[in-house]
Amino acid sequence: MITNAYLLEVMENVKKRNQGEPEFHQAVAEVLESLEPVVAKYPEFIEKGVIDSIVEPERIIKFRVPWVDDSGKVQINRGFRVQFNSAIGPYKGGLRFHPSVNEGIIKFLGFEQTFKNSLTTLPIGGGKGGSDFDPKGKSDGEVMRFCQSFMTELQKYIGADTDVPAGDIGVGAREIGYLFGQYKRLRDEYTGVLTGKGLTYGGSLARKEATGYGLCYFTEELLKDNGTSFAGKTVVVSGSGNVAIYATEKATTLGGKVVAMSDSNGYIYDKNGIDLDTVKAIKEGRRGRIKEYLDVHPEAEYHEGCSGIWTVKCDIALPCATQNESNEASAKALVANGVLAVCEGANMPSTPEAIHTFQQAGVFFGPAKAANAGGVATSALEMSQNSMRLSWSFEEVDEKLHGIMINIYKSASAAAEEFGMKGNLVAGANIAGFMKVARSMLAYGVC
Ligand code: NDP
Repeated sequence: MITNAYLLEVMENVKKRNQGEPEFHQAVAEVLESLEPVVAKYPEFIEKGVIDSIVEPERIIKFRVPWVDDSGKVQINRGFRVQFNSAIGPYKGGLRFHPSVNEGIIKFLGFEQTFKNSLTTLPIGGGKGGSDFDPKGKSDGEVMRFCQSFMTELQKYIGADTDVPAGDIGVGAREIGYLFGQYKRLRDEYTGVLTGKGLTYGGSLARKEATGYGLCYFTEELLKDNGTSFAGKTVVVSGSGNVAIYATEKATTLGGKVVAMSDSNGYIYDKNGIDLDTVKAIKEGRRGRIKEYLDVHPEAEYHEGCSGIWTVKCDIALPCATQNESNEASAKALVANGVLAVCEGANMPSTPEAIHTFQQAGVFFGPAKAANAGGVATSALEMSQNSMRLSWSFEEVDEKLHGIMINIYKSASAAAEEFGMKGNLVAGANIAGFMKVARSMLAYGVC
């Protein structure tokens, strides 16, 4: 809970100015609460207006996206790009295509992204974008026409040194290809304006794996610091998209046994350990549903509904689907089943009540800003390779990613300890991410 009078006033203003955007309020409240000891030690962040500025996006772009479906009918979607903070580098953050997308969701994601990007120590500011377009059930031609229309407007506002979008929910290799192709055509420029590109046109090896692998590197470091590891642990991973698949792959390599995964319809439980090749064939191959896993493994179980996955007994839980997918009841179920660690692959997947439950029960908790920063860190490595016109090997990128994740853990952990909250990585990540951005903003004067 926020108690500082000034921070309370900032929070009230955020609510007044951004009505009907509960996810944005939730994200801001969590950061402001963590900053209480910081503003007590450094009152200049209040006096010079840094706190007021940091909760206000630098720019919000909102546009109509008209496209023609396969039956010849005109469809209209909404596009967004929130350029949240460029204090430490060009705006950087993914594009999300999902029917739930609205301005508030993109604002919460852009706000979080600012601190996450800072934690990577790389020179990238915070941004996020997307559309309420749903690629699910659309033909390749429809997705292409949508992406081309989306980029026709977005290209006015982005650039390799200005704003570099990437993928997120609903935006994978196919969508990035269509978006990059249209940018190149309209601007007549071959630059690293998007990351997550295909390997034949400027993409980085290990980018696809980076968020999931990075999550496991972070989790391994947290476990190591507490005298344990993935080896022999039972793991539950929610979702079955990009982050979930590569988290499952790395958790397994590190000696864990992943027994459950999900999609937005339901979850599978395989006591023998998830056969990831089958999941990849369903999800990456034919864009199918997770319940098709039982066609290959009839001995596994399928349950309708997503939240039931948190009742599966495990030592380590990695939520990798979407925001607020784990609430207080889910957290209580995990704790009752003896969960040791929860690390977030998705953005803000745990509600504040769920986080409180984990912290009260002494569960090791790795917040998204720190734990899932491996994706954007590797996107920044893709930007470096594009600028140098060079490509690094998989091993080189993976090694850099591993080092970055260890450093993120250490700096979040050190910041928590410095401000008297040892072990509280939520506060530690917020503080460590804030300091670099805030000091840069102070240096710029009023900005
Ligand atoms: P994908 O689109 O590849 O996968 C999303 C997965 O989550 C799918 O399995 C989807 O199921 C499932 N899902 C979506 N909504 C719900 C829901 N309401 N309940 C249960 N499951 C749901 O996205 P990503 O893997 O890229 O992203 C997942 C999360 O990770 C997001 O929060 C994203 O912001 C975050 N993230 C992603 C990064 C990246 O590099 N990709 C980087 C950092 C964070 P279905 O197929 O049924 O929709």
